[in-house]
Amino acid sequence: MAFSTFYPQPRMLMGPGPSDVSARVLSALARPTIGHLDPEFIGLMDQIKQLLQYAFQTSNALTLPVSAPGSAGMETVFVNLIEPGDQVIVCRNGAFGERMRENVIRCGAQAVMVDSPWGEAVCLDLLEQTLKDHPDAVAVAAVHAETSTGVCSDVEAIARLAREYQCLSIIDAVTSLGGIPVKVDEWGIDAIYSGTQKCLSCVPGLSPVSFSDTAVQRITSREHPVQSWFLDLNLVIGYWGKDDQKGGKRSYHHTAPVNDLYALHEALLMLNEETLPVAWQRHQLNHEALRVGLETLGLSFTVSADIRLPQLNAVSIPEGIDEASLREQLLKKWQIEIGAGLGSFAGKVWRIGLMGQSACQSNVLTLLAAMASCLTTQGLNVDSQAAIKAASQVYEVAAG
Ligand SMILES: *Cc1c(COP(=O)(O)O)cnc(C)c1O
Repeated sequence: MAFSTFYPQPRMLMGPGPSDVSARVLSALARPTIGHLDPEFIGLMDQIKQLLQYAFQTSNALTLPVSAPGSAGMETVFVNLIEPGDQVIVCRNGAFGERMRENVIRCGAQAVMVDSPWGEAVCLDLLEQTLKDHPDAVAVAAVHAETSTGVCSDVEAIARLAREYQCLSIIDAVTSLGGIPVKVDEWGIDAIYSGTQKCLSCVPGLSPVSFSDTAVQRITSREHPVQSWFLDLNLVIGYWGKDDQKGGKRSYHHTAPVNDLYALHEALLMLNEETLPVAWQRHQLNHEALRVGLETLGLSFTVSADIRLPQLNAVSIPEGIDEASLREQLLKKWQIEIGAGLGSFAGKVWRIGLMGQSACQSNVLTLLAAMASCLTTQGLNVDSQAAIKAASQVYEVAAG
């Protein structure tokens, strides 16, 4: 077998993540690797913490990127906050709520489920009833942006209910951070985790997390040691620093993914320059244009408008269309990746992501043209021109 350097064909990433990574972030990855305890690097870590505090809208001192992808952020939150025998209320309205349940069980705790159907938001009345029925529960866990369905749940209300019933709130913000408002302090969220490869448009492999003082207290006064050595924040804090003290003393825990952190720093700088409100608005605008265009092509959205995520569009597959071959055609002919349905949505929806840098006019218009072409190949009579015109009008109106 002949081996050679791998040069991937550039794609337009419009699936459930990863999203398009800008040249600016990619070039940050190629800067010289330095030591993870180098004073220069410690300075960068301090900046990353502050930029993450901005992204999460929090002043939580314990805010840092876990050196592994979003699922590791999820696991970090559960293994640190939950002890064997605890009762945890888990809201499940898609694949990631189920993953939370599995984490709770692996902590030796009991998961009490609040189930809502796929494609619907977490039911607040059912959550409140479950809180009333389980006075011993210690935490409520919920997914803000369910990437498996494209649904946004009201995590502000979920955190408020958790607090009313003396529970910690644990929120999955992997797909929401940077795409729609996430306000950790204002909403009183106790523990939150995200990912880098969704609306932050950084390379995959890191998971920003943040913990309130109440959550930190629980972590530092645990009865049982955290079962994961790598994810034990009592140890990780020694490297990332407990407080906001700049340039504080850091000790070796694990070798940080130095170059990945350059990339995250750059992606967060870009978000900081754009500002959160402008980023949220950009996701919304591109979603509007995509929606109008897809509807002009005769496609319809799976999720009702009031709970739709702008950054993850679940689109129903029309009668008679071979969904897998359409995705294959999009990838091979157009270099565009979109997502398939998961779980109860498998074979029924496409998941079209507009995350981070992928939420832009050129991606939306290219996708509409590509979709129209692929649907035509499969015998559907669609008007490509009309779809592009309708979407373009959304941008023109916004530009004034
Ligand atoms: C992608 C995703 C995860 C998992 O993140 P990985 O980086 O793939 O481990 C968790 N929760 C949600 C809502 C996600 O979209």
